[in-house]
Amino acid sequence: MLESPIEFLKGVGPARAELLRSELGIYTFRDLLYYFPFRHIDRSQFYYIRDIDPEAALVQVRGRFTRIDSVGEKRATRLVGSFQDEAGGLMEVVWFRGITWIKKSITPGTAYVIFGKPGLYKNRVQMVHPEIEPLENFSKPLKGGLEGVYATTEKLKARKVDSRAIRKLQETLLPQVLSKVQENLPRYLKSRQQLLDRSEALQQIHFPESVERLSLAQKTLKFEELFYIQLRLMQVKATRNATIRGLVFKAVGDHFNNFFNHHLPFELTNAQKRVIKEIRKDMGSGQQLNRLLQGDVGSGKTIVALLCALIAVDNGFQSAIMAPTEILAQQHFETIQSLVEDMPIQVELLTGSSKAAYRRRLHADLENGQVHILIGTHALIEDKVKFQNLGFVVIDEQHRFGVAQRSRLWKKNATPPHVLVMTATPIPRTLAMTVYGDLDVSVIDELPPGRKPIKTVHRFDSHRLQVFGFLKEEIQKGRQAYVVYPLIEESEKLDYKDLMDGYESITRAFPAPHYQVSIVHGKMKPEDKDFEMKRFAEKQCQILVATTVIEVGVNVPNASVMIIESAERFGLSQLHQLRGRVGRGAEQSYCILMTGNKLSNEGRKRMQTMCETNDGFRIAEVDLKLRGPGDLMGTQQSGALNLSIADIVKDTVLLKSAREEAEYIFENDPQLQHKDLALVRMHLASVIQRNPNWSRIS
Ligand code: ADP
Ligand code: MG
Repeated sequence: MLESPIEFLKGVGPARAELLRSELGIYTFRDLLYYFPFRHIDRSQFYYIRDIDPEAALVQVRGRFTRIDSVGEKRATRLVGSFQDEAGGLMEVVWFRGITWIKKSITPGTAYVIFGKPGLYKNRVQMVHPEIEPLENFSKPLKGGLEGVYATTEKLKARKVDSRAIRKLQETLLPQVLSKVQENLPRYLKSRQQLLDRSEALQQIHFPESVERLSLAQKTLKFEELFYIQLRLMQVKATRNATIRGLVFKAVGDHFNNFFNHHLPFELTNAQKRVIKEIRKDMGSGQQLNRLLQGDVGSGKTIVALLCALIAVDNGFQSAIMAPTEILAQQHFETIQSLVEDMPIQVELLTGSSKAAYRRRLHADLENGQVHILIGTHALIEDKVKFQNLGFVVIDEQHRFGVAQRSRLWKKNATPPHVLVMTATPIPRTLAMTVYGDLDVSVIDELPPGRKPIKTVHRFDSHRLQVFGFLKEEIQKGRQAYVVYPLIEESEKLDYKDLMDGYESITRAFPAPHYQVSIVHGKMKPEDKDFEMKRFAEKQCQILVATTVIEVGVNVPNASVMIIESAERFGLSQLHQLRGRVGRGAEQSYCILMTGNKLSNEGRKRMQTMCETNDGFRIAEVDLKLRGPGDLMGTQQSGALNLSIADIVKDTVLLKSAREEAEYIFENDPQLQHKDLALVRMHLASVIQRNPNWSRIS
């Protein structure tokens, strides 16, 4: 019954079924049942505009549009409507997106109910992108007055499948299926956690009787979701540990000790020492190392990777270090090469632009074991690249690599190598627990000594002259600067133009021969990019104008100013990554965030956060709150994050108890054999079977 195709539901024909499938991923009755309202609203309450508190969460107003006009030009175009309620109160309603469609679908003079978050603009109440429904379609308040709001898409709305239509489908569906819904949590657990029966929870989430019942229903369904993810991750990890015998690196040997005692250019921080110990322990344990190494930009992950690679060498194995871009691979290569210069360690570089003759020799040297450490880009995972005995793989800045690519590297050996994933995108603990629940986590939570915190300021475009003045002073002192422009794929042409315009105005403000300005962007050939980067690294130019290609890893310690143009268009994590390009030397460094004068609330919050803190973890927390986890780098492919109801940011307490309950069960009865757990075992098996992402989590 629950598996019945959605077109068999009364009210869904073939055409609607197709839409539900393609737009919302609803294929079956079960999918619809688990398509929850993303919000519930109290439909028994209407506000007068004069009574609206601009700080209020969400309000509902009845009234008519007196006029609707397009305002502004090009990218700044918006739609502004005047909305008047029955008491004569007036409020502005503004849209920035979907303007054409909205203009067509609203008739001035018709009565509507609008619903949204009020705000204040120029001291007047305003609503941006509210939900709108003609008053005549507006359903009467239900029992309890609470009504579920379902997310739909523009396309669905245009075909009349809006939130209301979905609610009607749920009304048809629920009586048919609720009696078929099986419980999936043992009774003891439900009573301990104070959860509802599953069928009751499903009824209440769609059609709540009261606020209290609704919140119990949400808690129950969130718990169910988090509990099964945790259980699955534990299962994956246990299976891996049981089936994969890890290479055993028994000892640290001469290479490691020699390097540690005679070639380390600086004293390791305590955090670096600690994580090396953690990694070493895994390497000798007989289990495969699967560890995520988190450390803020500049925390010194590279040296950790090298030391661990030397342990592999000491045990007769080769290592591979994989970077997301050619520039970064090149840089790792140079850094590591020069660190082990006086040691009998052969380091090689393989990227897309390695020449054929070099490759041939390299392939041979890899297979006969002469190469100890291979550094490179995606080129490393090509099938042609074979190792004699690959024992250790480092994946740097892993968010650019998919899970599938990770597993291709594993296949290069009979016994999979140890894997260390390094990331500078700090992942809040709760998220790490969910997304990387099958990996162990090490954290470098300390920067090398002597770094001056970067000073960050926010400036409006109108203050560009002052910013340039400041830049001149810094250059006068012998420093260098980055100027970064956004390049976001959809609007690539426009962005490209911005970049070139910016470059021109900078060369005008900083004329040759006194100043030298370089430019680097994604459309350039790799060798041209490298040439320009090299010029910058060798101080032949003072300003590097670039797109985000320099985001990851680039290391030019003399660069002390980072100017980020249109900073409001970058996400927080990205801003933090960019800022991390400076502050690498002994000098005071600066990050200047340039934005237009008009900023959204969220944009302002991002600028403010950047100015307030240099702490990557704090920034990641704010980022997660602002954007939700779906956008965080690298998490898209994780599968574990396609949460239908739980919220990793807000539900940390519940996540913790779900994890504890799952741990308790798993530790005592990993096969789930106890009779109380039969429900759990069956449910887990059916979820894994239904959800391809879940079998891919490993
Ligand atoms: P990230 O973690 O961002 O990859 P890197 O490994 O590139 O950081 O290190 C950043 C800089 O800090 C490099 O120039 C490196 O030589 C230096 N560094 C790393 N560890 C230490 C340390 N313990 N003491 C002093 N400098 C260090
Ligand atoms: Mg790095």
